[in-house]
Amino acid sequence: MTENVFYQAPSVTRTARERLNGHRAIVIWFTGLSGAGKTTLANALEAELHRQGRRTLVLDGDNVRQGLCSDLGFSAKDRHENLRRVGEMARMTMEAGVITLAAFISPFEEDRARVRDIVGPENLFEIYVRCPLAVCETRDVKGLYRKARQGEISHFTGVSAPYEEPTSAHLVLDTSVLSASECVGRMLESLQSRLALPGG
Ligand code: ADP
Repeated sequence: MTENVFYQAPSVTRTARERLNGHRAIVIWFTGLSGAGKTTLANALEAELHRQGRRTLVLDGDNVRQGLCSDLGFSAKDRHENLRRVGEMARMTMEAGVITLAAFISPFEEDRARVRDIVGPENLFEIYVRCPLAVCETRDVKGLYRKARQGEISHFTGVSAPYEEPTSAHLVLDTSVLSASECVGRMLESLQSRLALPGG
């Protein structure tokens, strides 16, 4: 399908954009159960990075599913395609010099590995937002666990679809133990060297 398509090299490189911005661009990937705190932490981290004068963008599962991926459902095949598109989009925003924070349940290791391939493992910082299912269910931020338990939603991660825990995340944050601001502190600490420009 791509045999007559030719890659066009950009005239402004990512490195040049990073120099202009004064920081490196990476993809920060948040994975975890629904209600674990991915969106909350991605937004809180973005607010702090923005306050520091860094260029950022949050890609959020719910928002993407209302636009770019509104044609997709929650079967394994559709989740697969959803994350492929998100991976490509995250790569593009990163290439544009933007620190890209992606909050997606991303329950399958195979899909997370593919995102790693698309983005490039050296560009990816994976955060496992860990929270026991029972706590997520108690929070039930959007009332989805209740609906899933009543059979009103199918393929719901943790209830009727699996969540494969990451084994090689760069950072694991247990939001049933740590406060959101403690989590932000830990993320900033671990990201500092990843965001610094070489030699500066
Ligand atoms: P997700 O994006 O993973 O589905 P959300 O961020 O939408 O999760 O919801 C997480 C809920 O948990 C929010 O209501 C948030 O206020 C609450 N919460 C409690 N403690 C924490 C914490 N330490 N970190 C993040 N969220 C927390």
